[in-house]
Amino acid sequence: MTSQALGRSDLKGTIAELPKLINLTGLSLAELTEVLIELGLPKFRAKQVWSWIWRHGVTDFQDMNNIAKPIRELLAKHFIITRPAISRRQQSSDGTIKWLIRLADGQEAETVYIPEDDRGTVCISSQVGCTLTCSFCHTGTQRLVRNLTVDELCGQILLVMDELGDWPAGNPTRRLTNVVLMGMGEPLFNYEYVAQAMKIVMSGDGIGISKRRITLSTSGIVPEIARCGEELGVNLAISLHAVSDTLRNELVPINKKYNLELLLDTVRNYPGLSNARRVTWEYVMLDGINDSPEDAKALIKLINGIPSKINLIPFNPWPGSIYQTSKPEKIEAFASIVLRAGYASPVRTPRGSDILAACGQLKSDSVRLRARERV
Ligand code: SAH
Ligand code: SF4
Repeated sequence: MTSQALGRSDLKGTIAELPKLINLTGLSLAELTEVLIELGLPKFRAKQVWSWIWRHGVTDFQDMNNIAKPIRELLAKHFIITRPAISRRQQSSDGTIKWLIRLADGQEAETVYIPEDDRGTVCISSQVGCTLTCSFCHTGTQRLVRNLTVDELCGQILLVMDELGDWPAGNPTRRLTNVVLMGMGEPLFNYEYVAQAMKIVMSGDGIGISKRRITLSTSGIVPEIARCGEELGVNLAISLHAVSDTLRNELVPINKKYNLELLLDTVRNYPGLSNARRVTWEYVMLDGINDSPEDAKALIKLINGIPSKINLIPFNPWPGSIYQTSKPEKIEAFASIVLRAGYASPVRTPRGSDILAACGQLKSDSVRLRARERV
């Protein structure tokens, strides 16, 4: 069909049918080797390309100067190396940076970089929106949901490294050192892609972020927790937030499916837990809801025997939220009970709250806009 013969609707169909170029940032070294072999290239080419992508952050095949020009052109015909597009970038007064990223299908998600004295952490999203509806979480109010793909998961880390000038990967002055899966979405509902992406990120001959520097936060998807421990061995954070089933059913509704007893049993058996490798219990402080001294004591009882850290998160309000943040004295009293019982209990200082980048405030602006348009 010539271009002249194409009507508008034909054109739409044609564009949709065009084969998409594979984004190499979603492939493991083994997969990359396979696709290059299919093109008739020897194995060592895959190693070279891998190193350009993951050690040097190269996005243009023409920059791969140890690969002959005709091969670079062949690669460019079949593949791309891209990051998600950036819809918006905001920087908080505390140095936190939040990106609203735009994915190839126009959906949006958020990525946050949090600089600290001894580390730099990227908080990545695992889904657009979330199918769960925790009553205190902004993301949970978003209706559109899909899993992020492997290249979209890895791409969030790559774009932060680009921004920070962290290439070549692994240099001692690198600013990005840690990854937390604590952005939008429930990572264990996207386990396959999250696992593939984390294996790429952990690869020693790539950006080499060790499993000890990766933390996955889950609302408690019991069947996938054990898998995550066995296959990935990353640090585990559990969004607990309540010490009774009645309250947790309300705050974290997945509790109706996987209750506290099941959750606690599963965490107790998480592979590799030790005093040097503790599970983090995230506990959002909601005024008058879950912040009493009795709650603190019940919490200690509940996690008894499990190597644990407790992370108290002052509730971050968002437009339309029905909760208030616990009073500072309440948080302090809660923290000291927990501390006296021998648990480290840092209170998570809200970061980037002036740009709605703090925990649970993430929600893409396009959706917010649509919600505003609806009223
Ligand atoms: N879905 C996963 C990971 C993303 S949420 C999970 O729920 O664990 C990351 C953390 O932020 C979770 O502990 C979540 O409960 C918490 N959170 C959500 N909304 C919050 C809010 N408004 N204020 C403080 N923490 C919140
Ligand atoms: Fe989803 Fe986590 Fe928010 Fe719950 S707290 S709605 S699981 S993102």
